Amino acid sequence: MTQQLNADLHCHSVVSDGTLTPEELAPRAKANGVELWALTDHDEIGGQARAMAAARAVGLPYLTGTEVSVTFANVTVHIVGLGFDPTDPQIERGLRETRGGREERARQMGAELARVGIPDAFEGAMKYVGNPDLISRSHFARYIVESGHCPDTNAVFRKYLAEGKPGFVPHRWANLGDTVRWITGAGGVAVIAHPARYKFTANEEFALFNEFKSHGGQGVEVVTGAHSQADAVKYAEFCREFDLVASRGSDFHSPDESHTDLGKLPELPNGLTPVWSLLESRIQ
Ligand code: AMP
Ligand code: MN
Ligand code: MN
Ligand code: MN
Repeated sequence: MTQQLNADLHCHSVVSDGTLTPEELAPRAKANGVELWALTDHDEIGGQARAMAAARAVGLPYLTGTEVSVTFANVTVHIVGLGFDPTDPQIERGLRETRGGREERARQMGAELARVGIPDAFEGAMKYVGNPDLISRSHFARYIVESGHCPDTNAVFRKYLAEGKPGFVPHRWANLGDTVRWITGAGGVAVIAHPARYKFTANEEFALFNEFKSHGGQGVEVVTGAHSQADAVKYAEFCREFDLVASRGSDFHSPDESHTDLGKLPELPNGLTPVWSLLESRIQ
């Protein structure tokens, strides 16, 4: 397959913390010129059959996807899985266990937010939740905007929900090695999501890439909604240094909240091996 393809291999639906259904996302991706699509809900593959059918209905080539929450060096890191068998029992169980603590965490978030003057946030967030197994900080952010405490969701994260802020409840997610093995064991490719977003020292970042590789991880997002042009240049260099393939995805969540719409991304820097070159046989 060609190096320059309008691939969008990272986005979210109501099955996690997006606001559109898989049936709404597929035609939007198609209309925006996407040529290869993956829905990557957080810790969930419950939307895969719907996304695949919706993609087929509009003639859009599709790869299965998910975005797994991982704790590495006490920091939350996201690993995107692409092109795996969605009926594989190990990835299904691993993701179910990763989702497991979310309700308890959300109840604690509700209690913390009440203490800083935002009552009933758990109940408020639940109004925005499409999948009761996947209550996310994004759902709280939407409720906190609705209730007038902040003008937009970015402001909510800055004031209440980012690490260290009053509504942030630390949580232990999946292990890096387990996550990479769930994905590769089901025939997929594991990709480090939006690496520029993590607050690592250079040594910690090197350790992440080294360990990811040693567990069988193969890719990194070079072009993604949260990356600047300089970030893309930096992680293109990481692709060469660590012999990784490059991925590209908007991380689209909502027409009202996401800066980057489906497929509206810069091209991959030249000279990299795109992740889709490893996944041709997995495209549906
Ligand atoms: P959770 O998995 O519940 O910890 O929620 C993480 C989600 O919150 C991410 O996938 C993003 O959708 C959203 N998020 C995290 N940080 C920010 C931020 N600074 N601004 C807007 N959304 C954010
Ligand atoms: Mn999200
Ligand atoms: Mn992410
Ligand atoms: Mn994402």
